[in-house]
Amino acid sequence: MSNLVLNQYRKGSGYKDVVGRLYHFPVRYLNAFAELPSAFVYYEPREGGEQIYFGAGKVLSVYEDTEDVGHAYAEIGNYEQFHVPVDFYSKPGSGTWENAKTMRNSVRRISNDLFESILAAGGVVYSNRSAPEAHESVTESLQRELRSFPEPGKRNPFVLRKIRRILESYERPSAVTNWVKKKRGDSCQICGVRGFLKRDGTRYSEVHHLFHLVNDPPAECLSPEYLVVLCANCHRRMHYADVGTLVGVSKGWKVRVDADEILLVTREAA
Ligand SMILES: [Zn+2]
Ligand SMILES: [Zn+2]
Repeated sequence: MSNLVLNQYRKGSGYKDVVGRLYHFPVRYLNAFAELPSAFVYYEPREGGEQIYFGAGKVLSVYEDTEDVGHAYAEIGNYEQFHVPVDFYSKPGSGTWENAKTMRNSVRRISNDLFESILAAGGVVYSNRSAPEAHESVTESLQRELRSFPEPGKRNPFVLRKIRRILESYERPSAVTNWVKKKRGDSCQICGVRGFLKRDGTRYSEVHHLFHLVNDPPAECLSPEYLVVLCANCHRRMHYADVGTLVGVSKGWKVRVDADEILLVTREAA
């Protein structure tokens, strides 16, 4: 796993960041995210900020920002704010934590030693979490986020748009979609076709979030119950064909697509 520093202002910036959840960055930094998950530490720059490191977490996945060409999002998990912010000049013995020359890059790699020292100075013990826990952590943090918005039925269009944007990110490859694919296998849950074989030996499949069918999504819609594994063709169909409303059944959902009644099994046997 590589270690990164991400420049981030604690009170937002010109970018569409959400501290502890989403990092918005120019695509020229994409290479730094080649190896995922990556552990990162946030740094608030001097210009307009306090020159401190203030939190750490993991970058779980990266996806392009389709509304803003030339930019991308990094999905963040396991975020922890430092108990004590770490001043740039507070490195024991030698002054600054990083070399001033590298500071021009908003996203930069640092050594494992340096990474762990900064976290220790911030009062955070870094733990390498396994995949199932990472799944819990992403789900829980997004759920908390959703709950902080007004109740279903009382949300304004702006809040609904924001919720939908959060949920859209759920279809991108992440700890959650990997978990669902592992659990349900690589066959399409609508037509049963297995995905083609990829160069790495695994099968291709996509994950669809059923929130498209919910007008005012409840916080629970982040659970795997709302996710289905589909082939590329059936996935497009769910987005563009005539799709009815979701009807809950004991095993998952029933939904009409064109003239077909489809059963989607999304409740895993315990
Ligand atoms: Zn299919
Ligand atoms: Zn979809």
